[in-house]
Amino acid sequence: MPFPLHRPRRLRRTEALRSLVRETRLSARSLVYPLFVCPGTNVRDEIRSMPGNFRWSVDRLVEECRSAFDLGIPAVILFGIPERKDEVGSEAYAPDGIVQRAVRAVKKAVPDLIVICDVCLDEYTSHGHCGVVKNGEIDNDSTLELLARAALSQVQAGADIVAPSDMMDGRVRRIRGELDAAGFTQTPILAYSAKYASAFYGPFREAANSAPQFGDRKSYQMDPANQREALREIALDVEEGADIIMVKPAMPYLDVVTLARQHFDVPIAAYQVSGEFSLIAAAAEKGWIDRERIMMESLTSIHRAGADIILTYFAKEAATRLRC
Ligand SMILES: [Zn+2]
Repeated sequence: MPFPLHRPRRLRRTEALRSLVRETRLSARSLVYPLFVCPGTNVRDEIRSMPGNFRWSVDRLVEECRSAFDLGIPAVILFGIPERKDEVGSEAYAPDGIVQRAVRAVKKAVPDLIVICDVCLDEYTSHGHCGVVKNGEIDNDSTLELLARAALSQVQAGADIVAPSDMMDGRVRRIRGELDAAGFTQTPILAYSAKYASAFYGPFREAANSAPQFGDRKSYQMDPANQREALREIALDVEEGADIIMVKPAMPYLDVVTLARQHFDVPIAAYQVSGEFSLIAAAAEKGWIDRERIMMESLTSIHRAGADIILTYFAKEAATRLRC
């Protein structure tokens, strides 16, 4: 028998052959574009640590949403930067809060774009924590009431999906109950189920001005060292009624994405967070790496690991690339 009989290189010889046998195909249809909305009009304020990303006023946000939709991106996720912050994050659930106003405007202008709302308090609280502070600790059960109010007000404003990101115990069930009682039985919940206490969120905190004023978020977000705990968190969220689950961040936690894929049948989202974006953007700016190739490779790796849906600050750039 001639040696070698098997030559895997046969299928790598030309781009046509490589494309024929490609296992993972990215599509703009699985991307979600995260956007920050702030008060004012005609505001397009670049975020220093996330070049090419902006804080948008509602009027300009609508234009940005339309342009993303025109590129084939099916969904955006909105984060609010409120006028005022207080101890209990009132603007997170105010009927005329910044996100509620943004949802109404976007759904009116681009009705077929899926608008996802992040449900959390940290952008809205003066202390920057994701829950109510009692005796210096983040109180789980009183936070649930506020999260449920926030989710309901977003859905009443027109949000298609709500995405709780706070990591409080029992919030998916509490939000499901609130929505169902108000007649919104058809609104899906995308749960940030395995959200790690990660340093990769740094640039986002600058963008949303949401760094905690004391302590850190380690008493509610997950320890980066844990994998089995992620499966437990996801199982609880699925039991509580989550329709889609999420792993966050994405690239440093691809093992968790793959495990989740093996254990659960619900759709899985992964969030390529601000720090992942900024590392690539900064190294590319220095000329140390090829921005476009690294962007596509990073997104492919997240999809290959098992994510059906990818939240990424590269959404528009990747969608543009995927069109040609
Ligand atoms: Zn939060």
